[in-house]
Amino acid sequence: MSSEPHVRDRQYSIVVRTGDVTPMNHPEKLPPIPYTNYLPSVLRSNMGKWINRRMITPAIMEHVSESGDRIFTVKVIGPPNARYSADTLEKLCDLADTYGIGLIRPTPQGNIEIITDREENAHRLEDELRRLGFLIGGWGNHLWNIQPCTAYLTCTTAVTDAPSMAKAIGDALHEYVYEKETPAHLSIKVSGCPNACGGAINASDIAVVGYPAQAPVADDKWFSQVSSPSDVIAACPVGAITAKKDGSGKAYSVAVRQELCIACGRCRDTTDAMAYNPEKAGVMVLVGGKASNTGRLGQIMSKIVVPYLPNEPPRWPTLVKVVKRIVDTWVNHAEKGERLGDWVARIGWDKFFELTGLPDARKYLRFSDKPGPLYQPLYKRRLTETSAYLFREKN
Ligand code: SF4
Ligand code: SF4
Repeated sequence: MSSEPHVRDRQYSIVVRTGDVTPMNHPEKLPPIPYTNYLPSVLRSNMGKWINRRMITPAIMEHVSESGDRIFTVKVIGPPNARYSADTLEKLCDLADTYGIGLIRPTPQGNIEIITDREENAHRLEDELRRLGFLIGGWGNHLWNIQPCTAYLTCTTAVTDAPSMAKAIGDALHEYVYEKETPAHLSIKVSGCPNACGGAINASDIAVVGYPAQAPVADDKWFSQVSSPSDVIAACPVGAITAKKDGSGKAYSVAVRQELCIACGRCRDTTDAMAYNPEKAGVMVLVGGKASNTGRLGQIMSKIVVPYLPNEPPRWPTLVKVVKRIVDTWVNHAEKGERLGDWVARIGWDKFFELTGLPDARKYLRFSDKPGPLYQPLYKRRLTETSAYLFREKN
């Protein structure tokens, strides 16, 4: 059991220090209190002194301080979009109090880390977490996370359902979290539309992005009540939108030139009066991005390798097959330490498409390592050509 004060005691200490001034009634009068005051002592006293780390199991990472202190971080894979119930969090907090130092850390990717200062307790945590049905692992050369945006859970601009895609992909790849090794770190991001709140799609090993795959159509009936035509026209990066005017010359709605539209979704972000046909929307798959400076090329921008797959909720069979095929091919052919983008950089895109068996997307998209907007390739080829690709693939 940890000797650290319970988190409620630490919160109580804020109130004691500030008399009757609480965050609830006078937040502006609170003295600045360093956040480190609330950290368990083993973290506070070793801040900036960590000198070594070692993966003990795919779920346990050890950090060693120059002071000789050691901590062991146990990683719990989170549910899609990190939607934890209070009951689940309570179970994790109980484990952190019983075996850890009374602290859990939600990661930016939605996983939970439980920290302990004893190795035997880290192994007990592994056993307990497994017994309770949690998926644990994801350190080292494994699948670190599948991070989806919120999409239909709360978002108004989603064109597809990111959390259910993350769940279906995770079910297919779960062995790579602990049991099976990958050549290097694997991170997957899933976003419900090109706004990409699911994470850095241009710098992920694999990214799945909801794609409208069609030019939106303005709903003339209520457009003027909710939107300004000039705002929507200004949002379009390719000048595909023009004003519709009434007899007096007043703009009341907009029209989209389909042959120019690249289906980027920016006009839809501006107003809900731009509508899509959900039957035609789908997802695209990007591969090989990374922000780290490892490998021959250092940072790499992702490339679109599948311009469109249809929406197939709730289990997304085609998407899952494509992602699993990419991962399995990389696992079987890459050298140890090669991130997906590094592997493709070594073998070339010809070999990538040959080994994965995916249709060669370069016929329809321009591949370039030059910086630029994610959808730069589509500016060159236009939606009509990518639609032709889809039509051929579907038939
Ligand atoms: S990526 Fe799109 S669908 Fe997902 S939360 Fe952001 S705006 Fe909504
Ligand atoms: S989807 Fe993008 S390219 Fe198409 S009309 Fe809207 S803003 Fe313009």
